[in-house]
Amino acid sequence: MHKSGFVTIIGNPNVGKSTFLNNIIGERISIISDKAQTTRHRLLGMLNNEDYQIIFTDTPGIINTKYELQNAMMNFVKNSLEDSDLIIYMVGSDKKDILNDNIQALIKSSKIKLFLVINKVDLVTQNEVKRLIDYWDKKYKPFKIIPISALNKYNLDTLLNYLIDHLPESPPYFPKDTLTDRSMRFIVSEIIREKIFKRYSKEIPYSSEVVVEDYKEKGNMVHINCIIYIERESQKGILIGKNGKALKSLGISSRKSIQNFIKQKVFLTFNVKVLKDWRKKKQQLKKLGYIN
Ligand code: GDP
Ligand code: MG
Repeated sequence: MHKSGFVTIIGNPNVGKSTFLNNIIGERISIISDKAQTTRHRLLGMLNNEDYQIIFTDTPGIINTKYELQNAMMNFVKNSLEDSDLIIYMVGSDKKDILNDNIQALIKSSKIKLFLVINKVDLVTQNEVKRLIDYWDKKYKPFKIIPISALNKYNLDTLLNYLIDHLPESPPYFPKDTLTDRSMRFIVSEIIREKIFKRYSKEIPYSSEVVVEDYKEKGNMVHINCIIYIERESQKGILIGKNGKALKSLGISSRKSIQNFIKQKVFLTFNVKVLKDWRKKKQQLKKLGYIN
């Protein structure tokens, strides 16, 4: 008997969804930062075993929308909620519920089994964990509540066993050696975006988009050329830095991480371009693959 199905992970920004996905799969496929809204796309991550294939969907954190980009992000969430077999609603070890009323209503009315996962329990006492379990139980009447620490890999096996138990019987949806639905190009652009989130402050991370223009293997090296789009001319100077220093150091740390991921030597180049107010414009979002 083989089991397979889609497990959608939803929750507020910063509760640890991407950390959980990476740690359960054992590869860094989703980017992580301590800034909200790092994850912009829907991203599948597969956990394969002889007897099962779990397809996790990492979603952008749930937010109230202000930009067109954020509308597109919430549509990714809605779509994945509708076609999943199980839902993980992840919360942190505080009592923050999701901000978006529409999504709250969707969760409450959904017929799909809801696993309420309390993450970051490493930050609170056992007694507080008990109180949190009570609180969430009353609020959503979820199918199961599981406290975990995604960062310390605490209780991930318990959660995993529950998920496997409740997956439908089905042949695998993807070949068993698949890790993600995303291309190497996408992962590379996400690695660079993660570095931008970590290295720059204020608007820069949110205004940046990375597109891999060229990805070519030459001999034992991979040549990668990227465009970094920003929203305004004034952001160019900040991104590049004095005498090109900031961009150069972004390049060095990105190259190291990409090499680690693809296990090949990398030659990395950047082009910085202004795509005026791309987060607000449908046309630009289309071009960047956020809407069809
Ligand atoms: P996402 O926005 O929900 O995808 O959250 P991320 O996975 O990007 O994580 C947000 C922040 O929370 C990062 O700084 C993580 O290192 C941190 N984090 C994630 N899981 C845990 C955990 O179990 N314990 C603690 N203390 N921090 C965590
Ligand atoms: Mg994330």
